[in-house]
Amino acid sequence: MALIVQKYGGSSVADADKIRNVARRIAVTKDKGNQVVVAVSAMGDTTDELISLAYQINEHPDGRELDALVSTGELVSSTLLAMALEAMGYDAISLSGGQAGIRTDSTYRRALILKVESKRVVKELEKGNIVIVAGFQGISEGEDITTLGRGGSDTTAVALAGSLEAEVCQIYTDVEGVYTADPRLVPEAQRLDEIGYDEMLELAVQGAKVMHPRAVELGELYNIPILVASSFTDNPGTLIHGGVSMEVRNKVRGIAHDLDVAKVTVVGVPDRPGIAAAIFEPLAAASISVDTIVQNASIDNITDLTFTVARGQLDEVMKVIQPISQEIGARECVSDATLGKVSIVGTGMQNMPGFAARMFSTLSEKGINIQLISTSEIRITCIIDEVRVKDAVRALHRAFELDVAD
Ligand code: ASP
Ligand code: MG
Repeated sequence: MALIVQKYGGSSVADADKIRNVARRIAVTKDKGNQVVVAVSAMGDTTDELISLAYQINEHPDGRELDALVSTGELVSSTLLAMALEAMGYDAISLSGGQAGIRTDSTYRRALILKVESKRVVKELEKGNIVIVAGFQGISEGEDITTLGRGGSDTTAVALAGSLEAEVCQIYTDVEGVYTADPRLVPEAQRLDEIGYDEMLELAVQGAKVMHPRAVELGELYNIPILVASSFTDNPGTLIHGGVSMEVRNKVRGIAHDLDVAKVTVVGVPDRPGIAAAIFEPLAAASISVDTIVQNASIDNITDLTFTVARGQLDEVMKVIQPISQEIGARECVSDATLGKVSIVGTGMQNMPGFAARMFSTLSEKGINIQLISTSEIRITCIIDEVRVKDAVRALHRAFELDVAD
């Protein structure tokens, strides 16, 4: 008998029939003699609808109230799923995130899980129950309801799997697994049988929507294998784990893209110690997460500093940055919110020359201008015009021979 944690996404529980379908799948796992814990997302677009409702009522809703409101989406789906299992003759119980012991800090809308006190979940499993946990939510030290950031039910599932030392965490969604690129952009994209945590993390951070990056990080931390598969088929999916052998052929594993990119350039900055801190400390204090940062070499002690942020944060960034750029004597501060990024990812490129050159020449053959470049050991990212992202992903997919199955 194994302990298995499953997660079902919003589209998998979008209506009563789909909830019954999920209940049947859970029952199959239980019938095999396993203990089953399930984390579930809100039905369909419920979270978007609740957020939109909040903003119709109040342009600046209070974080505490907003989190309590959106957490109800997952209470609806988890209770209905428990009822569906009961109707099929299975013993099941739903628990809110708080009841399941998901303890978080009190950063509303993107709380961090501090620990999982799994006593109650264990007790219910011992009674023979299938335990259905409302995903995406926890409870703060002050006993207030918090949420874990959009897409956070993945994180709930992996955190539960880690604390319960589950054999595997199965993430069931509306796609067949992790692909070499977004199949909506690249019809030839291939499903990967397996991928390492580090590669998956890079892909997720760089825009692959299939899994929440924090969930991948937790999976690696607790060394929990994560299966990503469809809740509508019985196809094998993709296993994310730590034991993926280093590719003998030095291959790029996947291509991620993201259209949610805005660029800010502080032009004509005096080049002296403390300038970068003067710019980025106030941004950090405003909880703005900065992505790529590039500083040019200075000429006559004057330089330009460019960085990227999510588009939704651009207004706030400019509000923070304008007065600072005046204070430090910069010439001006300009922004561009029509950019996107494409990334190639693969451990095979570690210490291997040639990948960057191939990426740049592929883009240049397509007449695509690269605005910024950033790299990690296993990733190269280019920031380009948003209207060229689709062409770029397709061309790179071909150039790195990802349309042929392994
Ligand atoms: N329902 C939440 C959202 O839509 C959490 C999740 O789906 O994982 O972001
Ligand atoms: Mg959702």
